[in-house]
Amino acid sequence: MELLNKLTQTYSPSGSEEQIRALIESEVAPYADEVYTDNLGNLIVRKRGNGNKIMLSAHMDEIGLLVNYIEDNGFLRFSPVGGIMPYCALYQSVVFQNGIKGTVAYEEKIDLKKEFDITKMYIDIGASNAEEAENMISLGDCAVFCGEFSHHGDILTSKAMDNRAGVYVLIRVLRALKEVKNDLYFVFSSQEELGLRGAKAAANAISPHIGLAVDVTDTGDTPNCNRMAVKLGKGACIKLMDNSIITHKIVNDALKASADRVGAPVQYEVLSLGGTDAGAIHTSGTGVMTGAVSIPTRYIHTPRETVNMNDIIGAVDIITDFVNSDF
Ligand SMILES: [Zn+2]
Repeated sequence: MELLNKLTQTYSPSGSEEQIRALIESEVAPYADEVYTDNLGNLIVRKRGNGNKIMLSAHMDEIGLLVNYIEDNGFLRFSPVGGIMPYCALYQSVVFQNGIKGTVAYEEKIDLKKEFDITKMYIDIGASNAEEAENMISLGDCAVFCGEFSHHGDILTSKAMDNRAGVYVLIRVLRALKEVKNDLYFVFSSQEELGLRGAKAAANAISPHIGLAVDVTDTGDTPNCNRMAVKLGKGACIKLMDNSIITHKIVNDALKASADRVGAPVQYEVLSLGGTDAGAIHTSGTGVMTGAVSIPTRYIHTPRETVNMNDIIGAVDIITDFVNSDF
C-alpha cells in the first residue's frame, strides 16, 4: 500500500511525466532485462522471453490544469489537460511542480447552471499582480489536484488512482514473474489523458502480437448513478467495449482462463464514455489482438478516486498468469 500511496501522490500531469517515470524506473529496474524511455516519454520495460511479443500498457500521466493566461491582478486562467470537470474543480486546492499551491475559483457574475465552464474559472495563488504571479509560475506550467491518500480497510482513496492503480498492477506483475515464456514489454505510457498519445507511438515501435491495457473504469454502485454492471470489490474487470475499442475475444478468453486458474473473481465491463491505451494499441501497425483489464473506480477524474485493494490484487494475479499464455 505504501508504494501505491507514493505513486498516487507523485506530481505528473500529461506531458510532464518526469517524476513518475523516475519513480517507476527505480521500482522496476532490478526486475527488468532492459529499461528505456522513448521520444514521447513512455517508459518501456522489457522482460525477455522466446514466445509472442506482448505489450502491456498502463498510462502514468494524470489530468491537470495548464496556465494559459496571467491576469493583471495575478489570477491564472487555465486550459484543461485531460477531462477536468468544472463542478469538480471548483474550490479544489491544486499544486504546481515547484510546490506553489492555488485554489480554483470562478467569476461570481455568471449563472452557474448556464455558463459554468473552465473559461470562467481561475486559479488564485495568492499573487497580488501579474509580476508577482510570473515570479511564481510561467505560462504552460501545469497544476494537478491535491488529493491525499487515505484508506478504510480495503477501500483506498486518492487523486490519480487513474491510473497509478494500473501502474501499481504492472509493477507488481513484473516483480511476481518467475518464468517468462513470452517476450514482454511493460509500457508506462505518457499522455493517455490527451488521447492515448504515448501508447500509440509505443505500439508502433514495439509491433506486438498481443496488447493489454490496464486502467481504471467507472462503477454502477453509487446512489442513483448511471446503469453499469460493475461494482467496487467484486473483482477486476475484463473490458468488452469502450469508446476506443471492442476488445478481442481471444484475449478476453485468455484473461478469463487465467482468472479461473488463479481463482480470482472477474466482472465484465462495457464503458459508455472514455477510452484507454487499448484503443491505440489495437489499431497500430496492421492491427493487434488487444484487450484490457480495468480496476473499478468511483469518482474518476476527481481528487477522491476510490478503489478496492482486492480488485487490484486480483488484477495482478490474473495478468501474472495471462502473460504466460500461449496464443
Ligand atoms: Zn483518466
